[in-house]
Amino acid sequence: MPIYEYQCRQCGTHFELIRTYSQADSPAQCPHCAGSETRRELSRVNAFSGGKSLTDSGPSCSSCSGGSCSTCGQ
Ligand SMILES: [Zn+2]
Repeated sequence: MPIYEYQCRQCGTHFELIRTYSQADSPAQCPHCAGSETRRELSRVNAFSGGKSLTDSGPSCSSCSGGSCSTCGQ
């Protein structure tokens, strides 16, 4: 599940919650003042997909070294 960042409008506390997509826009309670006036900030969801890009040049799959491969067809 992605991590969403929120900021409390009352005390300014930043906090993170791991929620499902369906919960992302639901009100989040501030852990500092227990206020419910929080707003969601841009999350770092994409951080989970970091690493090697699939568009890098080279073999199309990790199980081949450039020769004939039944996985990627190259
Ligand atoms: Zn707060």
